[in-house]
Amino acid sequence: MRRYFKYLKGSCFAVLLAPLMMILEVYCDLRQPELMSAIVDDGIRGGLGSSYILSAGGRMLLVALVGFAGGALSLVFATIASQNFGRKLRSDAFSKVQSFSFANIDDFSSASLVTRITNDVVFLQTIVAMALRMFVRAPMTFFGGIWHALMIKPQLAAIIFIAIPLLLAVLILTIRKAFPIFKTVQAKLDKVNAVIQENLTGIRVVKAYNRAQHENDRFGKANMEFASLSIRAQQIMALMMPLLTLIMNAAVVSVLWFGANLVGADEIQVGEVSALITYITRILGSLMMMSMMFTSASRAQASAERINAILDENIDIMDPDQPTTRPITRGDVEFRDVSFRYKGAAGDAVKNISFTVKGGETVAILGSTGSGKSTLVNLIPRLYDVTSGAVLVDGVDVRNYRISDLRSAVGVVLQDNILFSGSIAENLRWGDENATEEELSHAAKMAQAEEFITANPDGYNAVLSQRGVNFSGGQKQRMAIARALVKKPKVLILDDSTSALDMTTESKIRKTLKTELSKMTVIIIAQRISSARNADKIMVMENGKIVDCGTHDYLLGNSRVYKEIYDSQLQADEEVHDV
Ligand code: ADP
Ligand code: MG
Repeated sequence: MRRYFKYLKGSCFAVLLAPLMMILEVYCDLRQPELMSAIVDDGIRGGLGSSYILSAGGRMLLVALVGFAGGALSLVFATIASQNFGRKLRSDAFSKVQSFSFANIDDFSSASLVTRITNDVVFLQTIVAMALRMFVRAPMTFFGGIWHALMIKPQLAAIIFIAIPLLLAVLILTIRKAFPIFKTVQAKLDKVNAVIQENLTGIRVVKAYNRAQHENDRFGKANMEFASLSIRAQQIMALMMPLLTLIMNAAVVSVLWFGANLVGADEIQVGEVSALITYITRILGSLMMMSMMFTSASRAQASAERINAILDENIDIMDPDQPTTRPITRGDVEFRDVSFRYKGAAGDAVKNISFTVKGGETVAILGSTGSGKSTLVNLIPRLYDVTSGAVLVDGVDVRNYRISDLRSAVGVVLQDNILFSGSIAENLRWGDENATEEELSHAAKMAQAEEFITANPDGYNAVLSQRGVNFSGGQKQRMAIARALVKKPKVLILDDSTSALDMTTESKIRKTLKTELSKMTVIIIAQRISSARNADKIMVMENGKIVDCGTHDYLLGNSRVYKEIYDSQLQADEEVHDV
């Protein structure tokens, strides 16, 4: 909890004024019954006349206005403090997520991250606003009310001391029942968000496969669970309210009963009885307010835990304490007995990998899906860190480079390349913010993207919608390659990034890279032998291991797996030609 105080620091003024103004409001509130009773007892019954009643009424109005001003200002200051609190907390949580490594991201579902950063933060924000007002209001009304009541007539006020324990018993019982449910409600909301998010991300696939009904059912189920659990929690709380009202009314009736007797005996005045009743309702009302505060506080605690999980997540990939200052110039890549296992996985995704690639060489990696190709290349720019062994670039362990240095020297075109909303130029400049138009155009030319970009009437200013859905798969792949080339990397990794391109376009790209960027190391993950055959070295992977390695001709003669792939693709080609 302590960590959250820092988010209030910037709003000290508001944090201080909100409760102060609240004190003013409660003070005025508590004065009202007294003034009222003076009007009844002295003004009307005591016969002091209309001028007294008018001036007392005037005082009541004034006190009410001051109280109103206090209440309104308190709300304004509490809102300022809590909104700033929420803004800063959200911003911290968001930055923290930006520093997450791939492994960290695997720990949370993105839907859960969204709920935490939005919903849970808002909940804490509400509790802050409440704390600044209610936490002052409730106890002050409670004790102030008791004091005023006792001042009027201790014998009558004693009734509250019977009502309070009864009220507390009801409160504690219901809160105990409702709390555990409130905690699960948030988890159910996560599920609802998860379904929405997955659905929206894949909405095109959902449509193509006619899965809308299925998705509706899936959403309906999550939605229903969330709603019915919330209802259950509220039902328990609902039971509480009538019980509390019952106790309160019983207390009021008792005061009236005993009060009437005392008035008869001339021990107390009518106005005082009515003031006493008002105080008692206030006191018991403040208890209910405290119970609500308690409920909210416990829900806020659940939210705080969920936000803490983000803020406390151990970032496993960080800059070294003393990063090497040697720049990456050659683009040599070496794997030394590297194994990697995903968190929670039963086995290694890649095992005992060793190989070297000299700067400027082109290496192709072939293998069936799931054989570990993506995992292997992701270790080079430290998207994941090795479990054992070491990956070296230019002879230095990648963990010794400053991450930004490493990643600007290693360009990756990921398997699921994602473009962002914005213009083509903006997307390409992800590679290098300061790239000139010539540089963008040069990169696009090499990626065979220039043609379709300039064919567009808006050219480089053509706007991509979210995820670039207004471009074809092959166009997106070429823009993703261009984006990586803008970076002018020393090592370029293409993870299956030409799968949507026809063979001619793909071979053009390879040739251009070879001639124009002959000093750049290229690691290509490919499905087709045709994309791999001209590489200096081809590595064949199976079950996380490199089973064979060599040139195309060597592998044809010596690798069973390579020969199998070759034959199957040759066959497929022939079948196509036969048709
Ligand atoms: P490839 O790129 O050759 O198709 P991958 O490297 O993507 O294969 O996957 C290798 C293995 O690691 C697969 O068994 C896959 O299920 C597993 N895997 C991939 N990504 C993750 C991840 N983020 N978390 C856990 N397991 C993963
Ligand atoms: Mg892959």
